[in-house]
Amino acid sequence: MKKIFSTFLIAFLVVGFSFAQADSDSLKTTKIESKAGTIEASIYLTKIVNDKVPVTIIPERFKQDTVIYRLPKVIPGTYAISDFGNFIDDFKAYDKKGRELDFTRKDENSWMIPNATKLRKITYLVNDTFDVENTEGIATPFSPSGTNIEEDNFLLNLHGFIGYFEGFQNSQYQLDITSNPKFNSASALQMVGEEFSKDSLTATQHYYAPRYFDITDNPMMYGDFEIEEFQVGNIKVYLSVYSPNKIYKAIDFKETMFEMMKAQKAYLGDINSTARYDIFLYLSEMNETSPSGFGALEHHTSTVVVMPESMPIEALKKSMVDIVSHEFFHIVTPLSIHSEDVHYFDYYEPTFSKHLWMYEGVTEYFATLFQVDQGLVSEDDFYNKIMSKIQNASMYDDTMSFTEMSENVLISPYQENYANVYEKGALIGMCLDILMREESDGQRGILSLMKELSLKYGENQPFDDEALFTIIEEMTYPSIGEFFKTYVVGSTPINYSYYFEIVGLEFSEGQVETNYIMNNGELILEPTANGTIRFLDLVLENSFWKENGALPNDVIFEINGTKVTMATAEQIFTEVYMWEPGPEVEVKLLRGDEEIIIKTELTQSYTKGNGLQSEKYASPVKLEIRDSWLKG
Ligand SMILES: [Zn+2]
Repeated sequence: MKKIFSTFLIAFLVVGFSFAQADSDSLKTTKIESKAGTIEASIYLTKIVNDKVPVTIIPERFKQDTVIYRLPKVIPGTYAISDFGNFIDDFKAYDKKGRELDFTRKDENSWMIPNATKLRKITYLVNDTFDVENTEGIATPFSPSGTNIEEDNFLLNLHGFIGYFEGFQNSQYQLDITSNPKFNSASALQMVGEEFSKDSLTATQHYYAPRYFDITDNPMMYGDFEIEEFQVGNIKVYLSVYSPNKIYKAIDFKETMFEMMKAQKAYLGDINSTARYDIFLYLSEMNETSPSGFGALEHHTSTVVVMPESMPIEALKKSMVDIVSHEFFHIVTPLSIHSEDVHYFDYYEPTFSKHLWMYEGVTEYFATLFQVDQGLVSEDDFYNKIMSKIQNASMYDDTMSFTEMSENVLISPYQENYANVYEKGALIGMCLDILMREESDGQRGILSLMKELSLKYGENQPFDDEALFTIIEEMTYPSIGEFFKTYVVGSTPINYSYYFEIVGLEFSEGQVETNYIMNNGELILEPTANGTIRFLDLVLENSFWKENGALPNDVIFEINGTKVTMATAEQIFTEVYMWEPGPEVEVKLLRGDEEIIIKTELTQSYTKGNGLQSEKYASPVKLEIRDSWLKG
């Protein structure tokens, strides 16, 4: 996954999650799986009641006395609790004569049915997660893993609709989706048939999922949206775009996504690939019932992206390249290279691998590096990105062991440091890459290592979490083992200049690019006691605001027509955080009683800070290593 963190939030918005311990009594069953034949799951998009979708589950006969039906508490690729069971209403269990059976709701996600041998059918209604994302006090899943139920759009992250019987995660599913025949639909899941009602008012599509994992791994979109297709090598890509106000069309992103994936394929070379890949882009209107967790979640053959619909096209394209390339690179890890925790994922009581440095860090590093490797960005752009990762990483606990954080990611203080996987995690990937280039005279790097690991393991063979560092050290060099011990397992902060020196780079002081709410990762605004947000002294060192006359203590009253309140701040400043030069903005400031209006075109903002530049007299050896690093 990749989450666009408004670092603003980390700094001062309190997240209302409570990590209540699940009651782990006798409910927990072992991982021995038996087959319950085929589980038939039906979703009726044509029969919505009060914004809820009816679902019917028909299992084959159970031989055991008691069975537990669960919706996932956590889903793969996310590192937080989702509790999809919270969105289920009106749960009912029936016998073959249609009589209701008793059941007990054991916790948010579990229903225990004592008369399992009599169970024939389960029905319930599903609420969407997007509607309540902005409701205070309700913990909701990360938007790209969430669900949307609206007249003209259904985002079906199927794990929000369909659960599993404990112990029967390996049973196959027949999935039927009944919808309006006028709707578009897209899914990477295999469709095995389609029927229309006699009056042609409904259509039912039949899909096949070999096991529950395939239900969680194959999101779908139904409704009024656009699909574009293009071919990248042997991959057929489907780009589905839902823009509620019809601001964007799928065609607007087609060329950018094509160029990006072509470059990714060229960068990856002969790593195994899929025949079909789906990109689902859901653009958020940013009102009360729209999603606000921007970013994306990866699947084996698709990704769901959620972004603000109000973003200007150039900024949106740029973000899409960063985000979708990250998700596509997940094909390497964890989708192909992963530990047992990932392979035998427990949706109810998951354990977490030590290796987020690799799953998220190396993936994010690839998404950054391939752009310079394939000439999509300049070397200077790449250096700026690396520098901003160093700056962003400084906001997290630099002495926290990455492996310890990874294994304990659901709980404090680790959860608050999770997002560092996209900053320091990527830098860990970079240091390993440079070290391997140095050791091998430029012949090997992190990409070749990942290819070797994917040949050794691959999608169907997990590695032993405890042994991975030793295995990599054996495959590479003692210095790599030392690096893991000191900087990934250990708590020593990384001295980045040591690695830059290997490739003939050094820090330079001067003006560096920054965004519009921070200087070098330091916020230039803060909330006040009376619920407004004002500029700090640092605003004078942010060139955009300074040039436009903003002063310390100015209250930020309104941005592009939306009033800034504590309720709207999260969305507004997430958007400001993602602003790119180009479009016109209008900002109203209050200076005492005076209203100041800044109406101007956005220009790149700069602040004082460290950049990265070539050493004046870098040796030919260093230049060669640099070249192999940046240009494969
Ligand atoms: Zn990711």
